[in-house]
Amino acid sequence: MAAPKDYYKVLEVGENADQETIKKSYRRLARKYHPDVSGKSGEDKFKDINEAYEVLSDPKKRREYDQMRLGYAQRQARSQGPGYQRVTFDDDFAGWGSIFEDLFSQAGADSGFTTTRTRTQNVPEETVTLTLEQVARGETVQLTVSEPHVCPVCHGRNANCPRCGGLGQVTEPRKFSVTIPPGVEAGSVLRVGNYARLRVEVAPHPRFVRQGNNLVGRLMVPVPLAARGGEVPIKPLIGDTVMVKVPPHTNQGKMLRLRGLGLVQRGTNIKGDLLLEVTLRFPEPFTAEDDQLYEKLRENHKEVGGEIHAPR
Ligand SMILES: [Zn+2]
Repeated sequence: MAAPKDYYKVLEVGENADQETIKKSYRRLARKYHPDVSGKSGEDKFKDINEAYEVLSDPKKRREYDQMRLGYAQRQARSQGPGYQRVTFDDDFAGWGSIFEDLFSQAGADSGFTTTRTRTQNVPEETVTLTLEQVARGETVQLTVSEPHVCPVCHGRNANCPRCGGLGQVTEPRKFSVTIPPGVEAGSVLRVGNYARLRVEVAPHPRFVRQGNNLVGRLMVPVPLAARGGEVPIKPLIGDTVMVKVPPHTNQGKMLRLRGLGLVQRGTNIKGDLLLEVTLRFPEPFTAEDDQLYEKLRENHKEVGGEIHAPR
């Protein structure tokens, strides 16, 4: 693909030139290269000047042109393989926007993820919804984004171009393989290519809630085990079953902390913890023997409850 023409150079102005400067320069050059003055030799130059002025004098067209040029420069700066371009996660960008429309096509078509297409202030935005397990492990998402390119047929020179219809640009699909690192926060936004972006959301989990890098869940513990102490097997978010020690005389609401079984802090090897809040459960059904044993306990503890505390 050819580089977009440098309209600023054509008009002999700087990239930050204001409208007045552009106008003045245009008038001076148009006079100088007008075919009536310069004859046949100035014809092409005169055309270029008019073309450049048509774009740079219109704030909307100028903005589009600047975006396109920036995009081209960025693409040139990267090596482009034939397959998916790798994108590593970097949500440091801010204030970024695009004025191009209809940039996405078949996004996430074969990636196996639930993706939705939305548009915020005309910026094409793809949303991928990950499970908490995928957040814990990290994920790679394949998507295809359409990006504007300078028209390969007319290079933006032909107002009657059949390929671009005189817009000077066409959109072409571009494949990306987006690496989402472990521990990504819900709502993170990643720029994909030059114009599109990918928002990462996280689906609610049936067993765990995320708090920073920690995972929080409620652990059901049988009353006799809580009274006497023991171990219960638990299934962490990912990985094998682990045994959790429940100390003797564990009360309802006690927090058990399992170090390192939370989520990794993004960009580090630091892992959060798994926090389990004990919920006491009577084993069911109650047998005749259970009733006898509980009756014995009740006899041993004649005091009757009745304290009231505010809800937490
Ligand atoms: Zn064209």
